[in-house]
Amino acid sequence: MKIENWNPSEITRRQFIRTGAAGLAAAGMNPLVFGQTSKVPLKLPMRRYGRTGLNISSIIGASNMTPELIPLAVKAGVNYWHKADKWTPETMPAAIKSQPRESYYMEIIVPRVRGNHRTGVIEEEEHYQYVKDSLKKSGLRYFDVFKHYFGYHSIEEVKTNAGMIRAFERLKKEGLVKHLVLSQHHYNDIGGDMAYDILEYLIDNTPYEGVQLFFSYGAPKEMEEVVAYAKKKDFGTIAMKTMKGIGRAIEDDNLKAILEDPRFKGSRPGEATVKWLMSNPNLDAAVIAMKSFAEMEENFGAAMQASLGAHDRRVLDQLAAYNDGRTCMLCSECVSKCSEDIAIADIFRYERYAMDYHELDRARKEYSLLTKNGTSCISCGDCMSACGSHINIMEKLKDVHSLLG
Ligand code: SF4
Ligand code: SF4
Repeated sequence: MKIENWNPSEITRRQFIRTGAAGLAAAGMNPLVFGQTSKVPLKLPMRRYGRTGLNISSIIGASNMTPELIPLAVKAGVNYWHKADKWTPETMPAAIKSQPRESYYMEIIVPRVRGNHRTGVIEEEEHYQYVKDSLKKSGLRYFDVFKHYFGYHSIEEVKTNAGMIRAFERLKKEGLVKHLVLSQHHYNDIGGDMAYDILEYLIDNTPYEGVQLFFSYGAPKEMEEVVAYAKKKDFGTIAMKTMKGIGRAIEDDNLKAILEDPRFKGSRPGEATVKWLMSNPNLDAAVIAMKSFAEMEENFGAAMQASLGAHDRRVLDQLAAYNDGRTCMLCSECVSKCSEDIAIADIFRYERYAMDYHELDRARKEYSLLTKNGTSCISCGDCMSACGSHINIMEKLKDVHSLLG
């Protein structure tokens, strides 16, 4: 579907009414039958999250998950909640808080201060206070996991600024947090380092215990390698931005027609992608966006089967062909080529929020915060040869600006 013809709110509503938990309830069906009527026993495999030692569900949950799905997720074994600091005592789902506190893990994301993830700074005292204030607002006694949000700009910054680590250590002494992890992005666009290089240094030289990182089918070999290295060093890994291109692919009539062929029978793009993630022995868990009962059942069912069949591989090959020239893999290779310092990978990440997760409002909000957007492109073409996904970056920047600007 072309960007200009796409109406995310309409699709989301239509899909959700068709198969969502609320849709099921409206049709007089009890969404909580999930896991009882399914052919597979819907209980997610558990994995050890690296050095944290936590036994977490192979698909983790998030506080922005569709609320109707949270009881189903808990029932299926989801026990790790990303961005849990966004809940208050009033909004924290009963399905979670009715469980024994030690049976689930609550994660707080701790961002830079005095700016965004590029312009902000790491400042021990402010992070320390931020977590204390967040605890008060959440009504929790402690967060299981302190996540340094977006990570470091460079190896040099890791070496010279221990503010985030010191804030964690003070909070840990007071029993307010237990484990230290981070998410890590690429920062070559601001003269920093690539995520995989920063991670390799962190794994060997710091008290961080795990990472959340971009990892989807077709990931650059450096990301594959750092995930393997993390496993070797008992450093936890959770994949994020995993559903590359799938939201748009499953709505594309041409692709749907291709996948009708008997060669692909028994697999679908989302299912094949989840099996690909789960069959990676080096990866501990994944964040997988899902908005409906049907998506959740498909993803959880695939996570339980885990092994990739020949039909799944064929679907993944088709998906890769579909994404080629269309969907950004967020590798950031193009960014350092741009003399205009346009955050190309971020812009295309926001496009993925809109096109694959159907979160247009969030995408527009993030896009509006950029200091330079797609309109800053001078069409010099210098970035184009860097793109292994064969994306016409100049044209795509214009399309994305029409969608999000
Ligand atoms: S074509 Fe646009 S995005 Fe690419 S390098 Fe030139 S100015 Fe930057
Ligand atoms: S546009 Fe291409 S080179 Fe740039 S981040 Fe996306 S996939 Fe990588």
